[in-house]
Amino acid sequence: MRQARCTTQEPRSVVSEILNTYRCINRGRPNLNRISNLCYTFFSMIIGIDLGGTKIAGVLTTPSGKIIMDVQIPTEAQKGKKQVIANIKKAVRMLIHSHKAKVSAIGIGAPGPILYEKGIVIEAPNLPGWKKVHLKNILEKEFKLPIFVDNDANCAALAEARFGAGKSAKHFIYMTVSTGIGGGIIIDNKLYRGAIGSAGEFGHMKIADSSPKCGCGNYGCLEALASGSALKKMTGMNAISVELAARQGEKKARQAIRELAHYLAIGIANLINAFNPEMVIIGGGLSNMRELIVSPVKKEFKKYALSLPAKSVRIVRAKLGTKAGVLGAAALCL
Ligand SMILES: [Zn+2]
Repeated sequence: MRQARCTTQEPRSVVSEILNTYRCINRGRPNLNRISNLCYTFFSMIIGIDLGGTKIAGVLTTPSGKIIMDVQIPTEAQKGKKQVIANIKKAVRMLIHSHKAKVSAIGIGAPGPILYEKGIVIEAPNLPGWKKVHLKNILEKEFKLPIFVDNDANCAALAEARFGAGKSAKHFIYMTVSTGIGGGIIIDNKLYRGAIGSAGEFGHMKIADSSPKCGCGNYGCLEALASGSALKKMTGMNAISVELAARQGEKKARQAIRELAHYLAIGIANLINAFNPEMVIIGGGLSNMRELIVSPVKKEFKKYALSLPAKSVRIVRAKLGTKAGVLGAAALCL
């Protein structure tokens, strides 16, 4: 089954954004140079692609994060690496050809560990046959544009930094709580990748002596105790069903969420002690449980964090939802 979905925004909305910006920054006489510079900024577009196990999502966006067009096509992971790469190229072509805008660069967010400088996907869970794929080289040859490749959690952190909940913060921690747990570290407005690009793997912090076996092969990891998969092991239900049951007052579901929030609070307190961030932004599927999960975390982390950094930190939900992946991939180009 092959499906493509496109939504195009009226060019008029882009023009109105330019005019609104113009009105805000120039209350005096018209300044045509300023407007033409703004037009240049707006019409030099970037592309962000989020490579997932089931779908490839992409956007054509302005550098200020205004989405001009988005596409979604099936990844077809089971057909192998070649087909997946062909589908990535197809999504990029759909975006490039949709508007006559100049595209200046393409960013790709991919699952699993990535060698950022070289743009190599070391291996990608859920994508059979993906070992040491030189995605940057392959796409540079095809499109003759600068290509940036990074891990999807780093991309989501970058998206929140540029366009979302972390826009006003210089130092923050982004934690995605979904089937697994990952994250990104923003220091001085920049993404911190570490020596080989593997920083931000918060899911594998050790926070207990024992737990069900983690995906990394170890025990006691945050991911083994506080992720969507951990919740499923505890309750036999997926996160949406657990949330529904908890909201209907079912004790077992409430207890499971409380336990999960307890471990998240320990993990977040460790990060607050280590990094002294202005904010901790919680994203990913489980953050959709809103106050069910965020409120107990907000209360409990103070028990484990040092009092000074605990007083100044704000714990908030991510703002960009499902668009964080594509916008973050685009933000790699900025
Ligand atoms: Zn682990």
